[in-house]
Order: sequence, then C-alpha cells, then structure tokens
Amino acid sequence: MIIARTKEDLRHAMREMAGDGRSIGFVPTMGYLHEGHASLLTAAREQCEVTVLSIFVNPLQFGVNEDLEVYPRDEARDVAIAESCHTDIVFIPSVQEMYPTRPLTSVKVSEITEELCGASRPGHFDGVGIVIAKLFHLVKPHRAYFGMKDAQQVAVIEQMVHDLDFDVEIVRMPTVREADGLAMSSRNVRLSAEQRHQALVLSNVLKDAGFWLKQPEMTVDSLLEAVRTEIGKMDEAEIDYVELMQYPSLQRVPANQRLLEASGTVILALAVKFGATRLIDNALYTIGER
Ligand code: AMP
Repeated sequence: MIIARTKEDLRHAMREMAGDGRSIGFVPTMGYLHEGHASLLTAAREQCEVTVLSIFVNPLQFGVNEDLEVYPRDEARDVAIAESCHTDIVFIPSVQEMYPTRPLTSVKVSEITEELCGASRPGHFDGVGIVIAKLFHLVKPHRAYFGMKDAQQVAVIEQMVHDLDFDVEIVRMPTVREADGLAMSSRNVRLSAEQRHQALVLSNVLKDAGFWLKQPEMTVDSLLEAVRTEIGKMDEAEIDYVELMQYPSLQRVPANQRLLEASGTVILALAVKFGATRLIDNALYTIGER
C-alpha cells in the first residue's frame, strides 16, 4: 500500500498504479475509520481495479464553534484498517498541502443545501463541495463511494457531479450500524456510556417511523411530532432537527399532507446532540405505492 502525503506523490502513485487505464475506486473520508468506512473500501475493492482512500479532516467544512480541534484522529490505526481492506493508495495530505493559499473559488450547490445540515451548519456543504471537487481532480476516480449515513451529502455530491460533468459514478452505500442499531460514526467515541445508551433512540425511532407512516391518518406533522416526542424522552438529547423531505431533491412534503396520499421516496432525517456530540441518522422510505 502506498501512502501519499503530497499531491505530487499522489499523482506519481496514480500513474504507477492506474496509468494503464485501470479502473479507480475512491473513498474520501476524514479518518478515524470504522466498519462503515471499511464497507466503502471493500465495495471499491470488489468493483474497481485500484482502490484509493483519502484521509483529510477538512477545516473548510467545519463551522467556527464546531468540533474541528477535537475531531478524533489515529493515523496508525487508519493505515492498518486501510491495509486490511486491501487499499492500494492512501492519500493523507496536510491542510497546507490541500490549501496552500486560501481558495477564492467556491463550489456551491443551491436548494438541496438549504435545509437539514445545510441550515444547521452554514457553509458546511461549500466546504464539502470544494474538497470533493479537488479530490476528484486529483484522484480521477471512475467510481466514488459515499455512505447514506450522510444522505444530504450524497444528494449534494450527485448534484455537483451532474451539474459540473464530473466523469465519475457516485455509488450510494448503506449505513453500517452497531449490533444494537446505532449508526457507526467517528464521533461515537465521544459519547459517555449513558449518552451512548440514549442515542439508540435515533435508530429505534427510524424503525418505528416505518410503521407509523403507513397509518391511514398519519400526516407529516403528526409523524414528526411522534418522532420528537420519542427523542424528547431522553434527558441528554437536544434536538437540532427532525425533518421529513423528498429525497434526493430535499423538497418539503406539505405538513398536513396524509402520507398515504403522497408518493415517492422520502427521508426522515435526524440531528440530535448528546452533550457536546452531535449525531445524525436517517432512513429512506418509499411511500404511497399501493
Ligand atoms: P467521514 O469520515 O465521516 O467524513 O465519512 C466518510 C465516508 O464514510 C462518507 O461517505 C460517509 O457517509 C461514510 N460513512 C460514515 N459513517 C458511515 C456508516 N456508519 N455507514 C456507511 N458509511 C458511512
């Protein structure tokens, strides 16, 4: 496995490994890898000839009061996991390497960034857009793998790829969960034992919602109210948002619409803080198909 720390090293490694036109699968991450990341690497390994992983905690996608400084990091462990997933190249640039000067170019996807994490974290998706655009140019992947744990991010990147004609296939990967249902996240290590226990409400309520939204009288508002009530039973939980939207357009479903009368794919998206740790989770449901 080659570890590249500079763009020049990466270009050299790419020429060496994939210069003959071999297919490239790419998994961009912020490191502190877990089985969710590993599932993306394994899919890339199975579907492409060369697997590239990037590990970069991108400061541009963190707000001023967010957890950039305390974001968990463990390069040695990440490299070992990457190796065990048969990764060919790991790109681990410094901030200086990625942004030698302050970028004056922005990659801004409108509309689908206006709600959910885009509303709670102003500028977050602009940071995601620029770093993914740069990484796509550097790695030139045929396929790039993203987890539906970050469903809004997937929608944003699919839109960016479509609008800017990036020659890459975006592969949506399912959320990998702990045995008890908690969505795997690098941030889970920051939860206390009690918070970790209470955080199970997120995956449990997503499951319950799958049944609730089939009830004949259920409207968007009443569903969201039921979800908020369940989460509110946890004394450490502080709701950032609970939303039901069409996916991937992230358009609103009218609040008083009965769900049985709607149709298409909707996302129930949750962002909840447990102490200082903000967790997100979501589920997609197909509604109105009789
Ligand atoms: P991150 O390191 O958190 O930026 O995540 C890097 C990639 O891994 C993103 O595409 C995430 O959506 C994906 N990912 C994170 N957690 C999970 C999970 N539990 N299951 C599947 N993919 C995940």
